[in-house]
Amino acid sequence: MSVSTPTTTHAADRTDIRPVQLALDLAALGWHVFPLSPSNKRPLANCLDCHNNPHCAAGDYRGCVCLPDGQWCHGVRAATTNPDRITTWWRRVPDAVPAVAAGPSGLVLIDLDTHTSQPPRDPAAELLPGISLTEEQVPGGYGSVRNGIDAMHLLARLRGGPHPWPAGPDHQPVSVRTPSGGRHLWYRAPDGHLHQALSALGWQIDIKAGWSYGIAPGAVTRAGAYAVHAGTPRDPGRMPDWLLHEVRRVAGPKPEPPPAPAAPAPQGRGNAVGYVRTVLDNGASELAALTDGRKAALGALAYKIGGLLTWAGLTTADVEDHLIHAGLASGLTHRDARRIVQRSLTNGLARPLPAPRDGHSA
Ligand SMILES: [Zn+2]
Ligand SMILES: [Zn+2]
Repeated sequence: MSVSTPTTTHAADRTDIRPVQLALDLAALGWHVFPLSPSNKRPLANCLDCHNNPHCAAGDYRGCVCLPDGQWCHGVRAATTNPDRITTWWRRVPDAVPAVAAGPSGLVLIDLDTHTSQPPRDPAAELLPGISLTEEQVPGGYGSVRNGIDAMHLLARLRGGPHPWPAGPDHQPVSVRTPSGGRHLWYRAPDGHLHQALSALGWQIDIKAGWSYGIAPGAVTRAGAYAVHAGTPRDPGRMPDWLLHEVRRVAGPKPEPPPAPAAPAPQGRGNAVGYVRTVLDNGASELAALTDGRKAALGALAYKIGGLLTWAGLTTADVEDHLIHAGLASGLTHRDARRIVQRSLTNGLARPLPAPRDGHSA
């Protein structure tokens, strides 16, 4: 895919550009940018006021005064094209990594991973979810699909007809090679609402849309460069029709989510149950905002809750559904969420935490 060569030289095509210049150049093209920490590629931390404000801490940014004030609090929600804000942010953290908010920029990012994870246990169901697949349809067999790039080629073969990747600038995404050998394909977003869909289009294929984000084309992290090898941020192409259809199928408007299961039952010790519930709710909000590290974050949350159960007079059954729901809401599969929650709860339960000193600061 994306075989044509860049026709213009842009900051994003070079790897020697300063982060602030890359951010400013992308912003001038309408790409909404915000800073990530150079050490962990997560959004820079909220200010102390937000940290201490229970609404902000729970992930509710709507009443936050920092955003209208031009602070970088609340990660992707702060993304902007305002050159003064960008200049101020990068003056404070010059080596911050620019990230791009997909939806506000009118973009959708197709993120093809090359995680060295185990191949799916049930390839027929997991390689291309929602598409009935048989091994005869996969040249070279299931084992030949080793990463998201392979899964994308398989999808193109099954859905794209004889010429799945139309040539010409109209359909040329900004195609980026990631440090781990994956691909980022930035396309112009279609009309209508899209949301983030993780592994729904295919195994190791994530769709970042709406309020999700990706590292800016041309950015350099400690792991390496996000080098543009085709297309230009001046004019990202449109998805071919078959791909647009598939993306809408999995990332289009979704039905109302099922109501969250009731939080821990009111037996146990009153205040302690309330504390556990607060830890759970805050953890679920943080989880929902993550794009990376969701499995680890869910495991850490379940482990912490498990450590509090004995103190709170609760059992794993009181919290398990709620934790699994938090994992599902963050985009994990049911199987992953259940496996992580059950294992981490058990581990946490085996290592009880001391009673929290301040039951109100969860
Ligand atoms: Zn703040
Ligand atoms: Zn805030």
